[in-house]
Amino acid sequence: MKKFIYADNAATTSMDLEAFEAMKPYLMENYGNASQPYFFANPAKKTISDARERIAECIGAEPKEIYFTSGGTESDNWAIKGSAFSDGEKKATITSQIEHHAILNACTAIERLGYPVAYLPVTEEGIVKPERLKRYITDRTRLVSVMLANNEIGTIEPITELAKVTHEHDALFHTDAVQAVGHIPIDVKELGIDMLSASAHKFNGMKGSGFLYIRKGTEICPFADGGSQEYGMRAGTENVAAIAAMAVALKKNCDRMEETAQRLRKLEMVLLDALTAARIDYRENGSSNRLPGNVNISIKGADGEMLLHRLDLKGICISTGSACDSFNTRISHVIEAIHVPEEYARGTIRISFGKDTLKMKR
Ligand code: PLP
Repeated sequence: MKKFIYADNAATTSMDLEAFEAMKPYLMENYGNASQPYFFANPAKKTISDARERIAECIGAEPKEIYFTSGGTESDNWAIKGSAFSDGEKKATITSQIEHHAILNACTAIERLGYPVAYLPVTEEGIVKPERLKRYITDRTRLVSVMLANNEIGTIEPITELAKVTHEHDALFHTDAVQAVGHIPIDVKELGIDMLSASAHKFNGMKGSGFLYIRKGTEICPFADGGSQEYGMRAGTENVAAIAAMAVALKKNCDRMEETAQRLRKLEMVLLDALTAARIDYRENGSSNRLPGNVNISIKGADGEMLLHRLDLKGICISTGSACDSFNTRISHVIEAIHVPEEYARGTIRISFGKDTLKMKR
C-alpha cells in the first residue's frame, strides 16, 4: 500500500472506524424494521432514539427537533420547499449568491412555480452582511437561508446577526451547516435559528445520511408523505445503521473539535508558508474567520483543472474552484461572487485538510 495525501475533506471524509462498527449490528443480526411493534424491532427503535438524543445534544437542540434525512441535499430542499409551500401564499425567500447548489437549485425550482427569490451579494471575503439583508427583507419574506460556512472558501457567516434581522420581520431563518457541523462549535439556541441542515459524510459518518434541525413550532410541510416515521414529517423506513454511525461520528468529532482544529490550522500554515517560500504568486480567498483546514487559493496565471490533474498523478487529492461541463471550465459562482481578479480566478484550488490527512494509504 502506497501513502497518498487526501486533501479534499470538504468533498467527503473517511468513515470513522467506531462509527462503522456501530453500523454492523443493524445490517446483520438486528435488522428489524423500527416501525414494527414486536421485540425484534426494539434495538432499532432504541438506537434511533438514542442517536436523536446524542445528535441533539451536540448542537444544543431538543431530540424531537432532529429529523433524519438522506443528507445535505435533502435537508436543504426540505427547508426551502417545505417552508415555501407551508401555506397558500407565495411569499419571498432570500438566500445568498454563494450557497451550495442544493440551495440555489431548490430556489430556482420554487421560482419556476412563482415564488420570488432574492440572492444576496457578498463581500470580497464572502461575508453576507446583515446590513445588506436589512435592505432586502420585507414583511412579505417567509424564509432567509444563509449557509453557516461556505464549502469552497470556508468563510463563516454572521448567523446570529442575520437570524436576528430575519426575526425582526417575522420570517424564518435556515442555515446550511453541512460544512460546519462537527467542525466548529454550534448551538442552535445561541445562533437563534429555526432550521439547520447537516450531512453525515462531512463529519466521518456514512454517505447518504444527515438531518434537518427544525425548531419546535416552525411552520413547514412534510418532506415525504407516507408512513409515520420522523413524526410524520419524513416518511420512509429509517436507515438505522447510518443513523447509528452518524451519532457516533458526530459525538467523536465534537469531543475532539478543538484539538483537531489546532492541528488543521498548523497544516494550513505549513502549506501557505511553503507556497510563499516557493515564490508562488497566489492570493488567499475567504475570510480569516473560516473553517479549520480549509485553504482556498488562486494562483496567478495557473489553470486549476491542470493543477488538479498534475497533483492527482502525484497521489494528492484536492479540488478546484471551477465547475466543469463537457465543453468548458467555468469559474465557480463563489469565486465570481467574491470578485477574484480574472488573472487569478482560473487558477483557483481548494485544499481541505481533515483529521486523517497524511494517514491515508492506497
Ligand atoms: N451543502 C453544502 C454546503 C455542501 O458542501 C454539500 C456537499 O458538498 C451539500 C449541501 C450537499 O450535501 P450531501 O452531499 O449530503 O447531499
